[in-house]
Amino acid sequence: MTGNLIELLKCIYCGHDKLIMREESGANRNARKLVCEKCNAEYSIIQGIPVLIRSKHLLNEQGVRIFHEYADRYDSWFFSDKGRILFKNELKALRKLLENVDLGASLEIGVGTGEFAQALGISYGLDPAFNALLKAKERGIKCVQGIAEELPFRDSVFDSVFMIVTICYVKDITKALREANRVLRRDGNIVIGFINKDSSWGKLYLEKKRKGHLFYGPARFYSLEEVKDLLGKNGFEIMNVVTTLYQSPLEKSRPEEPVEGVKENAGFITILAKKLWS
Ligand SMILES: [Zn+2]
Repeated sequence: MTGNLIELLKCIYCGHDKLIMREESGANRNARKLVCEKCNAEYSIIQGIPVLIRSKHLLNEQGVRIFHEYADRYDSWFFSDKGRILFKNELKALRKLLENVDLGASLEIGVGTGEFAQALGISYGLDPAFNALLKAKERGIKCVQGIAEELPFRDSVFDSVFMIVTICYVKDITKALREANRVLRRDGNIVIGFINKDSSWGKLYLEKKRKGHLFYGPARFYSLEEVKDLLGKNGFEIMNVVTTLYQSPLEKSRPEEPVEGVKENAGFITILAKKLWS
């Protein structure tokens, strides 16, 4: 963990923007923790990952627990025959969307096990699921345990914020988008990648959700119109949209080239939006 990361953090209890690193004394001699300079709130650092999450949010939600308990199983999807191809297709769409974008200081909210962050060169990652973060950390991402609705970061510290396949697991999407807006600098970018509710992929996943699927069970799916509306209402202006996954989810997965602009039935939609200065 670098000092760099600590300089971006703030206290989630009082909002103060200075946390101090303190060595623990006694039996835990090598352990370090972060202490709020103002309210003295203490945050542990576990295996190099600062824990800035209220205990009530820890693993109480099914959408968090699955990614903690089944981090390996989730991660292994990216290396399955189907997962490898779909991941590449989704990455191609994100790369096309980001062609002329300088990421600058970048954060992925809901970084999970870190595949997208590593592939896109994102520096920082936040997630409530600790075991997933351990994998993201192995992939070189500087990680913090926290939730999207209460980001433990100071105002205006990032140039780009990513939410890739994250909005479906966020409990309060409005709060999460306002927080993303707050931590972005002026003219900063948000990048959203999500499964389109109105596509054959969205319909299949909704069906799986209905049947209690482990990963889709707690998910909530959105249409393009819904995400556009949410972005507009929370201080963002849409700059570009790139889509992919026009193939049927029931057929054998194959490589696909992403399409710029909005077309009907895309399974995976990526949106680039700019923070409006308010
Ligand atoms: Zn504090």
